[in-house]
Formats: sequence, C-alpha cells, structure tokens
Amino acid sequence: MEDTEKQVPEQWFVFFKDQLLLKREITEKGEVKYCVPYDTDILPVKPATGDTVHEVLLPSEVTVRTFAVEQLITETEEWMMIGLRDSYEYITPEEYKAAGKAYQILYWDQHSRFCPSCGTPTEQKEPIMKKCPSCGYEIYPHIATAIIVLIRRREEILLVRGRNFRGTFYGLVAGFLEPGETLEQCVQREVMEETGLKVKNITYFGNQPWPYPSGLMAGFIADYESGEIKLQEEEISAGAFYSKKNLPEIPRKLSIARKMIDWWIDN
Ligand SMILES: [Zn+2]
Repeated sequence: MEDTEKQVPEQWFVFFKDQLLLKREITEKGEVKYCVPYDTDILPVKPATGDTVHEVLLPSEVTVRTFAVEQLITETEEWMMIGLRDSYEYITPEEYKAAGKAYQILYWDQHSRFCPSCGTPTEQKEPIMKKCPSCGYEIYPHIATAIIVLIRRREEILLVRGRNFRGTFYGLVAGFLEPGETLEQCVQREVMEETGLKVKNITYFGNQPWPYPSGLMAGFIADYESGEIKLQEEEISAGAFYSKKNLPEIPRKLSIARKMIDWWIDN
C-alpha cells in the first residue's frame, strides 16, 4: 500500500569550508536547541546547479546528503553556521559523526577534481570513488593515519602543549604514520622525536575518525622506559609529567585524547 510506505527522512549537511549549517529552534519550554536540518525544513540556500550533492553512506535511519556553498550563510534567528569542531557541543553524537564524514567527503571532492596522474578532470563514479576517464586512475578519499599516545610513569602521565593546538590545553604526544611503519613503531619514533623518551608496553586503546581535514587517530597506552624529557621545540612548546592532583587544562570531550585521559583518571 503506497500511502503507508514510510518515507526515509533526508538530513542535509551544508558546509562553507569547515562551517556547518545548523537550525535553531526554541522548544516548548523556551530552551534553545540546535540541529542539522531535514528535507522538511526550507534551507536558506540551495546547491548551485552543477554542484555535486553527495550522499553520505552511513548505518543510519536517515539518508544523509551534503553539499558545499561558496559563501558563509548569514546568521538569522533560525539559522547559523558553526565550525565543525564546535558543532560537537551543539548537535547529537550521531550528527557530529555524520558531519565529520560529510566534511571529509566534501574535502576529498574539492581536492580530487583532476587526475593526479594525467591531469584530466575526474568523474564521480560511486559515493566515494572517482575515476579518470582518460587513464582509468581511480581515486578514493585519502585518510591520513596518526597515532596518539598516553605515556604513564608511575602515578603520572606525560602531557604536552603542541604549537599547533587550538586553545590553551595540554594534550598527548601524536604524529603521522610514515610509509612502512607499524603503528607501534610510529609510537616509539614520535615519542622519541618529540620528547626524547623511550617507551615500552605499547597497547592499543581505540581509534577515532579525525576529520581535520581527513584523518584517523589510533590511540595507544605506553609506559615510560627511560630518558630525560627533551622537547622538539618546533612542535612542542611545553611538556611534563603530571599527576591526577595537578593536571593542567586538558583537551575537550570530542577527542580521543580526552577519552584516554579520562580512562586513566578513572583507573
Ligand atoms: Zn588520468
């Protein structure tokens, strides 16, 4: 029966650069609430003709679509744009995950317009696959893998202040995987390069997609083995071992770094 057929709702993730469009609503109790708009909402902007609207494949009840706009959408009572990182504080964890994937697809789309092998304009073939019509080269989103490591020394952990950190917090040693390396070798190399320390007992903690702009963070726990802290000055401005009692400002809840630090505090 056609009229009982359930229509799958569509949710729209609209980006200008890393700014995500959110709808502002006032609940019956008078509270302000933010959400990612649905197809039932009248968007303040439409995808330009010829612009790619991407479907973001997710194990989700809703169909997720995304497109990029060329300028910031002016804030109104109903609409606002917010940076992807900050959106974590406004939308549900599911929406934040979907936003991260949508953003990575748009980023990939913008950076794969031409074949890297022969320079011919590429053609979109599948949601995350493009192909060069001239030489047949296939392009998938490139994901940069990085490790992040919590180093324990007795009752303390190592926290560092990276020069590229956005904010005033202290975080964990992290760095990109190099070709030919295992994740554990990457942990040892990055810790040595950034802090001059040797670590042991490297165990896997968990991982997290990191859409800034397109990465995967693999988290590890390790124990201090030997060495004196000698910071790599170009990347790290401060670093020391801290106990639970004297922790500095730590990363925000959205990051795996925070999950690892919280795990250590609870254990
Ligand atoms: Zn080509």
